[in-house]
Amino acid sequence: MPTTPVAADAGDLPSRLPFEILRDPRAMRARAEDLRRDGLRIAVVPTMGSLHDGHLSLLRAARARADVVILTLFVNPTQFGPSEDLARYPRDEDGDLAKARRCGADIAFVPEVPTMYAAGAQTFIEVRELARPLCGEKRPGHFAGVATVVTKLFNLTQPHVAFFGEKDFQQLAVIRRMVRDLDQGVEIVGMPIVREPDGLAMSSRNAYLSPDERTQALALSHGLAAAEAAFTAGERDAAALLAAATASIAAAPAARIDYLELRDADELTPVDRVTRPAVLAMAVFVGRTRLIDNRVLRP
Ligand code: AMP
Repeated sequence: MPTTPVAADAGDLPSRLPFEILRDPRAMRARAEDLRRDGLRIAVVPTMGSLHDGHLSLLRAARARADVVILTLFVNPTQFGPSEDLARYPRDEDGDLAKARRCGADIAFVPEVPTMYAAGAQTFIEVRELARPLCGEKRPGHFAGVATVVTKLFNLTQPHVAFFGEKDFQQLAVIRRMVRDLDQGVEIVGMPIVREPDGLAMSSRNAYLSPDERTQALALSHGLAAAEAAFTAGERDAAALLAAATASIAAAPAARIDYLELRDADELTPVDRVTRPAVLAMAVFVGRTRLIDNRVLRP
């Protein structure tokens, strides 16, 4: 996997502590406890690596809001289904560590699967209604894997604040609810979707796309734009808004809709008419690659 160079920009803040790479969960936890004892405010940015500017925006925001920034790099097997892309998920640890350092991370936590999941692990966190539709329906077990690994990462890194992208809109909703319901005491900050100049939402999975698929992947952002244009023109009917998005996506022959729905932005319940903020959320296969994107429509 080639390493994409990421320019350090003028806004990049250097780490105040020497950069550290920790792989052992027990060492991570001990380090976090020391940092807390020293009265430092800890931010964590959980990722699966193969970092792009979307991830780096989270790191920069974390840098501005905490004394110590911990980036976690872990391709979490429990959030992948049996027929999904776990084995071929892009990995670029050296490139990630260089970018992390440049964007103000103090600690990179890079655990291995066997140290994160002891043999015989059988405890999982289930968030119910919020995790059922959309990606939850299409990827059974996905959000239990996410909620569990995020909780484990919180336990190991002891953060005061954690940063997540709105690109994974349902994931952010699930994590917020989990933190509230389980009194995890971590402030959750959601950050806007970072896009390529042509509108494609940045994703580690974009690396799978052939040049032709990369062009056709614009179907997603074009679909969102078509629905938003209708919304701005006054359309509030969910079926009409979804039809506008569908028509735009259908123009790309390699695109196949996995789901395309309009749901309440807080509860993710279905909506027929937009009377309060609603999220237009989609998963679309472009060739074999499944991409997600969303936009919140606010009346
Ligand atoms: P991932 O490595 O895909 O698990 O993503 C790690 C974090 O980065 C998650 O909180 C994602 O929502 C966030 N993220 C991924 N892509 C983007 C993007 N294009 N813009 C903003 N955040 C993103």
